[in-house]
Amino acid sequence: MEPDYRTKAEISAVLNRLKWCLTDLHMAGIKYWPMKPREHEATGVIENGDTPDQVKPEQVLIVIREDIGECTRCPLHLSRTTLVYGEGPPQARLVFVGEGPGFDEDQQGRPFVGRAGKLLDKMIKALGFVREEVYIANVVKCRPPSNRTPQDNEIATCSPFLFRQLEAIAPQVICALGSCAAQTLLATNKPISSLRSKKHYWRGMPLVCTFHPAYLLRNPSQKSSTWQDLLVVHEILTGYQEGN
Ligand code: SF4
Repeated sequence: MEPDYRTKAEISAVLNRLKWCLTDLHMAGIKYWPMKPREHEATGVIENGDTPDQVKPEQVLIVIREDIGECTRCPLHLSRTTLVYGEGPPQARLVFVGEGPGFDEDQQGRPFVGRAGKLLDKMIKALGFVREEVYIANVVKCRPPSNRTPQDNEIATCSPFLFRQLEAIAPQVICALGSCAAQTLLATNKPISSLRSKKHYWRGMPLVCTFHPAYLLRNPSQKSSTWQDLLVVHEILTGYQEGN
């Protein structure tokens, strides 16, 4: 029977995910994939002595960071003080993705450390986590001048690094904070208002969109809507726990 459109889309998402996993394994020094354990034992085809399932997310994240280096790939490098890679445990169940570093983040080299970061901490706490248990990153890793929205060419240049980070971590849920993150991950121009409060998928991983904490500081009346979005995140995480 011919697979329906949804099935085709899911297969495509899984194949895309596989492609990125293989890219990161290759960059981590894994050049061959053993077909059978015996063959692997007999030929020793794994270069560094690790089998592929022993390649840990932390190794891949280090490779990606080295690959970025002192990046000058887009104009945002001209105005940055510090490149903000992202932080959190490599095996995080939950990843938050924001737009880009602001003033405080640019100074400290850490994501979400200003006023918006304090509000994000509260959102994390509402989900039953502490900050050290989640991974936090941005679409672009250098601060846009005057905190303007990143431009399309800057997003196109920088976002593949974020995508590789997400592939390496493979969290149970990705939470996109604000239009830039939501539109980049979902490859759409739809407004955040039409994307939030429902479950999407990014390369086979559940994705929930909500407002950016900086927007909530300017529009506190939207906080109740945000808690509804966080409930969707919570439901997905709970579903994983019940499935285990
Ligand atoms: S924003 Fe990304 S692509 Fe642009 S310079 Fe910084 S790290 Fe490089």
